[in-house]
Amino acid sequence: MKFKALRPWLESLANAVVPRHCLICERRLGMNEQCLCLACLMQLPLTGFKGKKGNIVERLLWDDRISTERGQSFLYYRPESDSCNIFFSFKYERNPATALFFGKMMAHDVEHTGFFDGMDLLVPVPLSRKRFLQRGYNQSERLAAGISEVTGIPVCEEALVRDVDNVSQTHLSAEERRENVKEIFRLARPELVAGKHVLLIDDVITTGSTLKQCAYRLLEAEGLKLSVMSLAISHFHSRHLFPHGCDPDFGEEEPSGLG
Ligand SMILES: [Zn+2]
Repeated sequence: MKFKALRPWLESLANAVVPRHCLICERRLGMNEQCLCLACLMQLPLTGFKGKKGNIVERLLWDDRISTERGQSFLYYRPESDSCNIFFSFKYERNPATALFFGKMMAHDVEHTGFFDGMDLLVPVPLSRKRFLQRGYNQSERLAAGISEVTGIPVCEEALVRDVDNVSQTHLSAEERRENVKEIFRLARPELVAGKHVLLIDDVITTGSTLKQCAYRLLEAEGLKLSVMSLAISHFHSRHLFPHGCDPDFGEEEPSGLG
């Protein structure tokens, strides 16, 4: 009997031996549930951007040096909300499978919209060597791997590297974050991305300063077209989408939380 046929049985056995629980409500997961129970899945704070032209992710990085082709975020990130458990799971609790699962979710969310049309490469935001050794993986690379499984677009980790171990962004103000990520990335292999349409992948966009520094370096490659995609974007940015306060959860504080 092939492994594929045995898989449901093995998963059922594994679930009985080591029960899996919902990342948000901690209820025991059913056979067909992964990471989240159906009830919590239905409650996720979706952005609903669906890669639409002119959305805030697409426009966030625009300046006199950057023009992005497309942008997309799957969720809103609200500090201290229940959905933060998703990010804690893969950033601090060593669960790369969570990032892989949400990478697939991000891709399925927009795969029929044409968002991925013409894209050649997925480039995850690089992690410093020190952080990589602590965590054992790069969570943005795991998100990219999930997107790659759905779309078939290859992941490229060699082109863009992080040379400097900057301090954690978690407790920094917006201005401190911009200073913290200046000149820490380097385009190590421009020939791998030149002339390509690159989709830059991050876990959470707060101020956008990290993505911006990555974008500056990537755009050093000749003829590169750039798009950006993240699992989540700070709800702070929803002020641009809900300028009259249509979003009941919108607050006025600076973005904070994950770095
Ligand atoms: Zn749940």
